[in-house]
Amino acid sequence: MADYYETLGVSRDASDDDIKKAYRKLSRKYHPDIAGPEFEDKFKEVNSAYEVLSDPDKRRMFNQGIDPNAPGGGAGTGYGAADFGDIFNMFSQGFGAGFGSPNPIPRTQPGRDSLASLSVELKTAVFGSKEKLDVRMYAVCDDCNGSGSADGSAPQTCPDCHGTGAVQRVVRSILGQMMSTDTCPRCEGHGTILPHPCPTCNGHGRVQKQRSITVSVPAGIQDGTRLRLSGQGEVGEGGGPAGDLYVDITVRPDDTFTRDGNDLHCWIRIPMTWAVLGHKTQIDTFDGEQDVTIPAGSQPDDTVSLENLGVTRLNREERGKLIVHLEVSIPQKLSNQEKKLISDFEELSKESKLDGKPQQASKPLNKAKGFFEKLRHAFS
Ligand SMILES: [Zn+2]
Ligand SMILES: [Zn+2]
Repeated sequence: MADYYETLGVSRDASDDDIKKAYRKLSRKYHPDIAGPEFEDKFKEVNSAYEVLSDPDKRRMFNQGIDPNAPGGGAGTGYGAADFGDIFNMFSQGFGAGFGSPNPIPRTQPGRDSLASLSVELKTAVFGSKEKLDVRMYAVCDDCNGSGSADGSAPQTCPDCHGTGAVQRVVRSILGQMMSTDTCPRCEGHGTILPHPCPTCNGHGRVQKQRSITVSVPAGIQDGTRLRLSGQGEVGEGGGPAGDLYVDITVRPDDTFTRDGNDLHCWIRIPMTWAVLGHKTQIDTFDGEQDVTIPAGSQPDDTVSLENLGVTRLNREERGKLIVHLEVSIPQKLSNQEKKLISDFEELSKESKLDGKPQQASKPLNKAKGFFEKLRHAFS
């Protein structure tokens, strides 16, 4: 018997919340659309573990050493007693625990939700865009329009179970002879059989297909956002209504800009003379080349803010700032003439005539605060 706790990597006394978290993490990790088809079995294991541990009744059974997903019980279809294995059926019927005969499983089932991931550029987060996403999932079988029938003939009542989807058999146990209810093998619990199943989908009404989906990524989207595309998920058995498609968005780091909320940050290296005398220059932005005015007397780590060149606020028209950080480059190799000019400057400069020792303190003295300190200040 599989250890579902081990599958989800949680302890036996894990809370419902822990189980949900572990499941969410693993289902993302092993989803065949993300991890590849070779992880399909692993993905199924994770799902069946969650199915048991997220249901208080099934979890109790499992803790008592009974696997609610054991074969012979119509594993994990979620249809009442058809879910439970022989032993549980025996006990529940023997003790009258209130589980009746299973109902036939409808041929048409709602489709499950699907999960995909999409990585976008920072520029997409700034302006938003429509992105193409290729997914492979169950879609309606075109050959039978989802009916599962090759010639359009209606399903017929199963002659073995007479439409109940279940068959009874006598089981011997330590408690004596008992009746056990099993899923009807002929119709797999549907209560009906298809006289001429569609050869394309083997009567399932759906097939795996590659689809190209357009995802509207809104401006201002954050890294790690999960978008929901209603009705774009997997089509169900028998051509049942499609589930939803969830798309996890990753915003890729950019070489030129760092995002902080709705602001963008970039760093430019400028010559000492620009900082001292002031300078007008241009930088590249997501909105093309823009003018930047460096004020005279700029200090290392000073910033120049360009309004409205940051990230668009989600669901709003406004945009954040582009904050340009100044890195002042101090010349290292000077010609004789340059050296003389700097020496002359030192002679003239009042600031250079320090009284022997420089000013000293336990904190940075520069009037410009460091980048991170500024950020902390801005968000406090
Ligand atoms: Zn049957
Ligand atoms: Zn078909």
